Amino acid sequence: MKTIASAPLAENVMMPQYDRQQLKTRIVHFGFGAFHRAHQALLTDRVLNAQGGDWGICEISLFSGDRLMRQLREQDHLFTVLEKGANGNQPIVIGAVNECLNATLDSLAAIIEKFCEPQVAIVSLTITEKGYCIDPAAGSLDLSNPRIIHDMQTPAEPHSAPGIIVEALHRRRERGLQPFTVLSCDNIPDNGHVVKNAVLGMAEKRSPELAHWIQEHVSFPGTMVDRIVPAATDESLAEIAHELGVADPCAISCEPFIQWVIEDNFVCGRPQWETAGVQMVENVLPWEQMKLRMLNGSHSFLAYLGYLAGFQHISDCMQDSAFREAAYRLMLNEQAPTLQITDVDLDQYALSLLERFANPALKHKTWQIAMDGSQKLPQRMLEGIRVHLARQSEWPLLALGVAGWMRYVSGVDDSGTAIDIRDPLSEKIAALVKQSTESERVSALLSLHEIFAADLVQNPQFVAAIQQAWQRIAQYGAHQAVIETLKN
Ligand code: NAD
Repeated sequence: MKTIASAPLAENVMMPQYDRQQLKTRIVHFGFGAFHRAHQALLTDRVLNAQGGDWGICEISLFSGDRLMRQLREQDHLFTVLEKGANGNQPIVIGAVNECLNATLDSLAAIIEKFCEPQVAIVSLTITEKGYCIDPAAGSLDLSNPRIIHDMQTPAEPHSAPGIIVEALHRRRERGLQPFTVLSCDNIPDNGHVVKNAVLGMAEKRSPELAHWIQEHVSFPGTMVDRIVPAATDESLAEIAHELGVADPCAISCEPFIQWVIEDNFVCGRPQWETAGVQMVENVLPWEQMKLRMLNGSHSFLAYLGYLAGFQHISDCMQDSAFREAAYRLMLNEQAPTLQITDVDLDQYALSLLERFANPALKHKTWQIAMDGSQKLPQRMLEGIRVHLARQSEWPLLALGVAGWMRYVSGVDDSGTAIDIRDPLSEKIAALVKQSTESERVSALLSLHEIFAADLVQNPQFVAAIQQAWQRIAQYGAHQAVIETLKN
């Protein structure tokens, strides 16, 4: 069967302009998901296009993804990213990946040895929050996680990402090899510290000497990542096949915008990502905070209220003047004042976000963004609310966003249709919903200490504001509740 590696492709397709034979596995990446393909892999490909080199990526998938990996091998590890803008589409074939390993197709032993090859300089990750096995409340390794329990008992055959990294570092140390940089590209607050806590937490349980060596020799730069990359669908893959002239099951579509801000702290070198427009900085936290609160906070707001009101995509919400105005005010009036970043025009940033959200070519589902809310609410909304509570400033739209999440996880949209809720805490949430009446619901859900810390739950102003927003949605429905809130 023809693949993108063998079929003639349409003329406008951008192809790798460098010698792929030069690539070595210098980056090992966990999580060949949608985002990595359209972000880190694409930016590394841009560097290779600009200056050649040997910065190849080996993709690792642990316990799923064998079909995707088999397919990737069949097409010489090439895959397509389709950038979809308001003014047209640009297909780009990415050549930066030079190999891939999967626990089912290969073996766990082969995967761990890949991390131990001397030329490997960076281990990067996009494995979502859950992959780090961190207890979100404590911020440390979750010792009750079954994978962590397994890895503590059999450290040479680990099943978790932190367990594999620690075993690989242990072997590199034993063999007198250099360590590597661990680079989290997940959209979680302070991602460098999260992965560091996970790795050190595991190493300390194993051997204090190993943990000390890791402290001394391994770096964990923080990153801010930004590009909207909806999950692939049959429809998006069919569109890409049409653009290319051949099917590419590993392809992904995304918006044209891309941003990556990285703390410049690499122990064994890195690609010259700045030649691809990446910002290398000393401290990434203000950037990350800006993105999490303004972009992701308003995305979540639109996802919950929009879904309840019957909007399937973020771009559909943007067609509605009340939702558009609410997203803008949420960003500028309620999130921007809580940020620490300087030297960025936040009004301009908010306007550019609205434009990105409105991109009709991107079918980014409100349902997809609404997933895993328990993991997202704290950094996207609650952190900003804390600042307002301390300053006694107003935050009506953030309150509506939190109440919108409560309404969403209550399981029925405004037309009376059941909602398919996906969340690591879904069982716990469903039990609280079942046990409470509508008027008790806010109190019931506020008992989720994994999301709502004591300082918030014990603050009467916080509780009253969420109750009031909840009442508004109950009385008017989500759409009218947005309109009513804008009247304030
Ligand atoms: P995805 O579902 O397409 O990919 C997730 C990847 O993580 C998969 O390869 C999966 O196999 C792997 N994974 C899941 N659980 C794991 C575990 N326990 N251990 C090891 N691997 C595991 O999701 P995505 O859209 O690629 O998102 C990945 C990350 O990128 C998320 O943290 C997300 O917040 C971030 N991000 C995504 C976007 C976007 O628009 N898609 C934008 C910015 C940031």
